[in-house]
Amino acid sequence: MEKINKKIISQSNSCEEIKADKSSIIIFGASGDLTSRKLIPAIFKLFKRNLLSENFYVLGVARTQMNDQNFRDKTKNIISNLCKDEKIINRFLKIIYYQNGQYNDINLYKILNDKIKYLDDKYKTNGNNLFYFATPPDIHSIIIKKLGEVGLNDQKNNFKRVIIEKPFGSDLNSSNSLDDELHKYLEEQQIYRIDHYLGKETVQNIMMLRFANIIFEPIWNYKYIDNIQITVSESLGIGHRAGYFENAGLLRDMFQNHMLQLLTLVAMEPPASLEPVSVRNEKVKLLKSIRPFNNKNIDDNLVRGQYISSKIDDEIVPGYREEKNVAKNSCTETYVAGKFFIDNWRWSGVPFYLRSGKRLKKKLSQIAIIFKDVPHSIFSHDFINLEQNSLILNVQPDEGFSLYIQAKQPGSKLCLNTLNMDFKYKNHFDFDPPEAYERLILDALIGDQTLFVRSDAMKISWELLEPIINKWKKENTLNFYEAGTWGPKESSRLFKNGTWYPL
Ligand code: NDP
Repeated sequence: MEKINKKIISQSNSCEEIKADKSSIIIFGASGDLTSRKLIPAIFKLFKRNLLSENFYVLGVARTQMNDQNFRDKTKNIISNLCKDEKIINRFLKIIYYQNGQYNDINLYKILNDKIKYLDDKYKTNGNNLFYFATPPDIHSIIIKKLGEVGLNDQKNNFKRVIIEKPFGSDLNSSNSLDDELHKYLEEQQIYRIDHYLGKETVQNIMMLRFANIIFEPIWNYKYIDNIQITVSESLGIGHRAGYFENAGLLRDMFQNHMLQLLTLVAMEPPASLEPVSVRNEKVKLLKSIRPFNNKNIDDNLVRGQYISSKIDDEIVPGYREEKNVAKNSCTETYVAGKFFIDNWRWSGVPFYLRSGKRLKKKLSQIAIIFKDVPHSIFSHDFINLEQNSLILNVQPDEGFSLYIQAKQPGSKLCLNTLNMDFKYKNHFDFDPPEAYERLILDALIGDQTLFVRSDAMKISWELLEPIINKWKKENTLNFYEAGTWGPKESSRLFKNGTWYPL
């Protein structure tokens, strides 16, 4: 059972941020890309916004040889762009520490145990520790085992929590093994599986939009919605992630987590409250209602693709197989589109089209809700084609939403046109929304698991994808698309009527 955090619920309607409890963050993989680009900036911004406790420190851990001073210098380089106030920077650097060692060497953890005890005493953190696993996925179970061996998983009137970065395994089996290993040493309430998409303001706003307004829910069902389309596209190629991506492919990289999480938020039933257990129960209920895939329906409902070289803005961009560290005959997919159905009363017969890919036309994360035609058109004149109403939720860029409705165009009596009611966060709210990692790290320090993925949700999403992974392992069903387009033309066959939005 998840515990109810009274502090979260009592303040959930408040605009004031909750300050983190006294604690430390211990980052494994502190020399890596994620730590430099996301974690250190996020922790620093929380520090600068005074949302961290005065009783707080950061301890970086990795194999790379560095001492505290080297790690502070590296940290300084990262945060200097974020703040011009030397005093704040120096105050932050003072609470930064580093320990190097081998992840599978018990001596590292003995040293860590002593160092953490010393720093916990020095900073009076009450022994509260948040361990962040920013390491390659195959290292996660080694670290948890070793932490367990030295007792750093033991909560005694304090907390020991672990944030785990995706991917959570590479298939159902490996994900189950990782989960079993975690549960040997930790309770589920100690485990925070992070999907940074869930920390984005506009993703969180899906729930607010749906459940804090009366006007959307009555039409949020099969009676009024024709189809829902979720697009998460990247204009860039695979970059430096080829080593990981070649084995993973896009289905594992995007669908198991971000895409299915977006789907649950847009389709789940209203939770009884904002309490983490209520929200996460509804998500799991929804995931369980997704129609399973099997050998027979996979080809009809899924399309996979890989980008080939193309000229974009007078520049030739390489195809996936020409990228560094990618096999010349690689069959890894860089694009997936799928038609999903949710077999419950609300969504009966409504297709959910999900697509995601690399090197697509533009970088975009968007949910398009396409409404049905009016039941009877009084404008049924040959030349009047009534466009369907649509509500577009823009997760990025241009965070906000747009409602497209029909309106009379001045002039001719029968002339209709589509009107766009546009709302952009940046035009309305006078501050930059916090980065997803800021939100999520703060939540983990407070003990709010709402935006983190629960064990059962993760398992169900792997179960859903498992038949697809297995079929694609055996059969080469790859289609090709030119870099800079919206993906393989075969993806349009998923539609009986209609088309992708945007095309
Ligand atoms: P890196 O490849 O930069 O690795 C992080 C650190 O882990 C490295 O600095 C290195 O530190 C150590 N490491 C790397 N390879 C090995 C190895 N084979 N054996 C042991 N240690 C190794 O990863 P990222 O920082 O990019 O990502 C960390 C985690 O976050 C991964 O699980 C990734 O999937 C996830 N993630 C990353 C994102 C990103 O934007 N980078 C986005 C979303 C998730 P040292 O050699 O000093 O020990």
